[in-house]
Amino acid sequence: MVKESSKTKQGKSAVSSKKRRKVVAIDVFKAWCKGCGICVAFCPQEVLAQDEQGQAYPKNLEACIACMQCELRCPDFAITILTEERLNPATGGVSHG
Ligand code: SF4
Ligand code: SF4
Repeated sequence: MVKESSKTKQGKSAVSSKKRRKVVAIDVFKAWCKGCGICVAFCPQEVLAQDEQGQAYPKNLEACIACMQCELRCPDFAITILTEERLNPATGGVSHG
């Protein structure tokens, strides 16, 4: 039994129709951020920017769609997307049993 889950009738990406995760905060651990700008470059929503030291910060948190690209691409694991699911796993997060 193979389930095809990602196809839509319109042929568009299914991402936009999924339940949107609410982003509460974006945490940049300054001690680990080396200011490479990768997270800024990969963010599709232009949520992130770099300060005078080059370190990342959220300049437009409201636009964040929790795609997690910044978190996945950061070579130093310095950025964390804090969604309601992650903060309150009992009310919608995934259980790992
Ligand atoms: S990708 Fe990571 S190390 Fe580079 S600027 Fe962003 S948070 Fe800092
Ligand atoms: S989770 Fe996606 S939209 Fe949000 S700041 Fe990171 S790359 Fe940008």
